[in-house]
Amino acid sequence: MSLNNTPRSSRLHIGIFGRRNSGKSTLINAITNREVAIVSDIAGTTADPVYKSMEISGIGACVLIDTAGFDDEGSLGNLRVEKTRRACEACDIAIIVFTNQDDFETEKEWFDIFKRKKTPVLAILNKSDMLDEKEIATSVKRIKSEFNLTPIATSAKEKLGIKAVITALLRLVPDDFGDRTILGDLVKENDVVLLVMPQDIQAPKGRLILPQVQTLRELLDRKTLPFSCTGDKIDEALNALSSPPALIITDSQIYRKVFDKKPPESKLTSFSTLFAAYKGDLDYYIKGAYAIDCLNETSRVLISEACAHVPLKEDIGREKLPRMLRAKVGQSLSVDVRCGTDFPDDLTSYDLIIQCGACMFNRKYVLSRIEEAKNQNVPMTNYGVAIAKLSGMEIASDALANANDNDLECNKEGDK
Ligand code: SF4
Repeated sequence: MSLNNTPRSSRLHIGIFGRRNSGKSTLINAITNREVAIVSDIAGTTADPVYKSMEISGIGACVLIDTAGFDDEGSLGNLRVEKTRRACEACDIAIIVFTNQDDFETEKEWFDIFKRKKTPVLAILNKSDMLDEKEIATSVKRIKSEFNLTPIATSAKEKLGIKAVITALLRLVPDDFGDRTILGDLVKENDVVLLVMPQDIQAPKGRLILPQVQTLRELLDRKTLPFSCTGDKIDEALNALSSPPALIITDSQIYRKVFDKKPPESKLTSFSTLFAAYKGDLDYYIKGAYAIDCLNETSRVLISEACAHVPLKEDIGREKLPRMLRAKVGQSLSVDVRCGTDFPDDLTSYDLIIQCGACMFNRKYVLSRIEEAKNQNVPMTNYGVAIAKLSGMEIASDALANANDNDLECNKEGDK
């Protein structure tokens, strides 16, 4: 895919982390061979993380994330460090920029974060043009012994060592990066696929929403025969076909209606369920949906929506899902809605998290959230899977087939 047709959420995310004034922004400019980041000798020039979509020769379409120094100070500095910490959740690869400083305490803290997240790390010893050979050798040795990483000596300012950085980055690209498709093995060439796409208030006039656009694009790339209708035209659409479609993909809000009308030969899924697997962990989401059966009127649910749009009438996250949950559990069920990258660190007060399809986020970021939920023992599901469960649909996966019964039973004492 070229720069113009790879959405940001599908690009390799490379984050650059280091102390203030360690040359992170200059390094980005050197790697991309362009002035994409603002460079200054004044420490703390980069405030919020800056996301730059780039095409790097050899690496391809990626996003470089320029972050504030992780040693920033004061109340504003702490806020910047917090934003830097959030940016690290999305990184497929992290570059830690070292300079010839006396201690590596802060670098260690961040290195440990990446280790926990299983994010590959590239160490760079920058500003090497200001060091003599002996000083470079001493620093390289220290980094090797303290981090078990072999740093590349660079001078971003003088563009020294940059080729070696790009070669090393290439080696760190996760093996399965870019292999994942939205539709997996659900379709093959010449399959007829019916897309049921209600044009409700959430689809801006004249446009389709991103999960629908991305799915349609993949169906065309895979030489299937997609056609589409709105939710009120399912009968007409099915009648227009000489044989049942191989697959029907529906908006999850009318899952039940489409299920009741679908020919027995047609497979059925929803955009949201496809994105659960594409961006997240479908097995965990399906197991998580069973936590709905354990909710009661004192439970708390977190609804997490990647779009940070102004609330709309009949909004799925703010209105429809809470309504469906309360109809099942009771009106005093507590539902919090968080948007964009606003996701609580402490999830333990929640009995269930329901994430949207997260088409705006990259997979690594969504998996980081799932990891947090697992670490804190909080079930997590997504919009489509939750709606299927709340609509009384049979939801199943290999994970459920292998699950211990206790995994799916409510923990009455823990009220989960
Ligand atoms: S980010 Fe979430 S809410 Fe926004 S369009 Fe994508 S799936 Fe829907």
